[in-house]
This record gives sequence, C-alpha cells and structure tokens, in this order.
Amino acid sequence: MPQYGIRENLETVQNIINAECIKAGRNSSEVTLIAVSKTKPIEMLKEAYECGCRDFGENKVQELVDKYEAMPKDIRWHMIGHLQRNKVKYIIDKVYMIHSVDSLRLAQEISKEAVKKNVSVNILIEVNVADEATKFGVKVDEAQDLVVEIAKLPNICVKGLMTIAPNVENGEKNREIFCKLSKLAVDIMSKNIDNIDMNILSMGMTGDYPVAVSEGATYVRVGTGIFGTR
Ligand SMILES: *Cc1c(COP(=O)(O)O)cnc(C)c1O
Repeated sequence: MPQYGIRENLETVQNIINAECIKAGRNSSEVTLIAVSKTKPIEMLKEAYECGCRDFGENKVQELVDKYEAMPKDIRWHMIGHLQRNKVKYIIDKVYMIHSVDSLRLAQEISKEAVKKNVSVNILIEVNVADEATKFGVKVDEAQDLVVEIAKLPNICVKGLMTIAPNVENGEKNREIFCKLSKLAVDIMSKNIDNIDMNILSMGMTGDYPVAVSEGATYVRVGTGIFGTR
C-alpha cells in the first residue's frame, strides 16, 4: 500500500470506519480504532498520539512495557498477542485490556497477579473461529465453557470476544468469520452468566476491518494501514 503520513492514514481509516457504520446503521462512536504499533518506533507512536490516538495495541510484553514507560499515561494499552503465563506479572498493571485469553490457566494467572497488585483487568476471549491450526484461540464450541469458568475468578472482567481472521487478499472473504464471532457473543450473552459482558468484539485488521465493522466490530486493530508495512 502507498505510504502516506500517519495523520492522513488515520483520517482515511477513520473515514472508512465512519462510512461502514453509516451503511450498517451503527453509530461510529461504537467503534474504537486501536493503533497497532508493534515493531514501530516511539516517534511514530507519538505522532499518532498527537493526532488523538489513545488506544494502542502491542503483541510483545517487553515492547509494551518499554513503550508504556516512554509514552503519556492517558493511553489505553491493549495486549493483542499471545501471552505467556510467566510474563503476565510485567503487564498486569499497565494494560487496559488483554485480548488474547484462550485458556483457564492463563486467566487464573491474570487473576492471581491482578489480586496481588489490587487491580481489575479487562479481558477478551480469543476465539479461533476459522479453526486454523497455526492460530491461538479456543474453538467456537469451547468458548462458552471457558467464559463460565473465568467468570468465577476475582479481579478479572470478561468483556467480550476477539478473533484473528485468516490473511486474505479480499477482506470480504472473512465476512462469515466476523458474523460467526458476533453470533457467538449474542449466544453467550443469552446464557445470563454472572459477572460477564459480551459488549466488545475485537475483530478486523488492515485487510478486512471495513467488513468487520459492518459485522459489528467494536474494536478494530489496524497496524499497517496507519504506520505502513512492517
Ligand atoms: C499485527 C496485528 C494486527 C494488525 O495487523 P495489520 O494487518 O498490520 O493491520 C492486528 N491484530 C493482531 C492480533 C496483530 O498481531
């Protein structure tokens, strides 16, 4: 894709989100753009911050911690990558939301560390909707049972679902994936599980976020489309 400045890219992405919202009869305030800044230098994050970005996504613990230290404190940091249990303690009081929870053992560790630091942590359940062997995430039919178990843990709040759709040339091809995640959230919500929410759907990346918005995404995670290729 052509490399424009970060400001222009942010405007373009936001305009596309707004247009998709209008088409879908949604209010664009329902959709938050997460600037996925992994591998990108602090200067670029600062530029996005100056443009008004307050939600940043990172996929590595050390990089998130370094950037957390270097950036203003009103940023909401989103952990979007696979998280090892022994690293939870480094980010527990720095992240606004962990998008990649796919096991009870990881959730137990998050809960334990959150209790220690006296914080409450928002999480999403990562669902491998496409059932790709290479991807993390629980299977669609395992998600509800996991939510039920995590709901019992202290200092951890299930807020919704996340998926990483396959890398496709045409984002339209992922529509069914996004539709399935959206239906799964409705389905789980209808079970009236205590202490959980299913209001957040984290889905859509540079190649397919317009489709994700039209299928109900409330967080889109865009890296390349804002900061250029990695
Ligand atoms: C890197 C990454 C993104 C952003 O990908 P782009 O295609 O650059 O927009 C989104 N979500 C996750 C989980 C990622 O690791």
